[in-house]
Amino acid sequence: MKIKFINDLRGIFFPDSCVCCGDTLLSSENQICTDCQLGLPFTDFSPVKENPVEKIFWGRVQIESATALLSFSKKGSVQRILHSIKYKDNKELGVYMGRQLGTALAESHRFDDVDYLVPVPLHPKKFKKRGYNQSEEIAKGIAQKFDRPVVTDVLIRTEFTQTQTKKSRFSRWENVSEKFALAETDTFAGKHILLIDDVITTGATLESCTRAILQAEGAKVSVAGLAFAGH
Ligand SMILES: [Zn+2]
Repeated sequence: MKIKFINDLRGIFFPDSCVCCGDTLLSSENQICTDCQLGLPFTDFSPVKENPVEKIFWGRVQIESATALLSFSKKGSVQRILHSIKYKDNKELGVYMGRQLGTALAESHRFDDVDYLVPVPLHPKKFKKRGYNQSEEIAKGIAQKFDRPVVTDVLIRTEFTQTQTKKSRFSRWENVSEKFALAETDTFAGKHILLIDDVITTGATLESCTRAILQAEGAKVSVAGLAFAGH
C-alpha cells in the first residue's frame, strides 16, 4: 500500500514522459507518444525473404528466417528505446516493444512453425547486477502476440575462463563461440527455436547461440531482433 501511494504521488509530480522525445504522455499513451510511435523507423523486414538481417548470416551459420522490427541509428529514437530497456530498468518498455515485434512475426506467417522463443542469455553476473535480461522482457512481449513458450533455462551462457582484453582478435572470436551451451539437448531436439535479441549488429552473438542450439539433433533456428544496426 505504501509503495502504491508513493507511485501515485510520483504520477502527480513526475508524469510519465515519452521515452523518445521527453514530452509528457497523455493518459491514453504508454511509453512512447503517438508522434514518436508513428515516426519510428520500422524495417518492414518480417514478411521479406532474404532481407538484410538474414544476409548477415549467409556463409556463417544456417538460419531459417530472420527479422528485426526497427532500424538502429545512433542518437535516434531507437537508441533511446534500447537504452531505456537495457540500462534504465524499463522492463515494461521491453514488453511493450516486444508486442509490436510479436505482431509483425505473427502477421508475416514466415515464423509459423516456431516452437519456442529463446532470449539471448545474459552472463549470470550481469543478470545479477541488472536484475533482468532485456531480451527476455522483449520475448515476453512477443509471446503476448505470437503465442509460444519463452524458454530461458536451456540455452545458457558459460562463465568466462580468462580475460578477453589480453587476447588477439582471432582468439577473442573463438572465445565468443564458446560462451553459449545447452544445459541439455532433449528440449530443443527436432524443434524450431526463435532466438530473441535486443539489437542485432554483427550477428556474432546470435551465431554462437545458434551453434550451441544446433547441438540438439534436428533443431532449427530463426532470429528476431528489436533493432538492426546493419548497413
Ligand atoms: Zn515522443
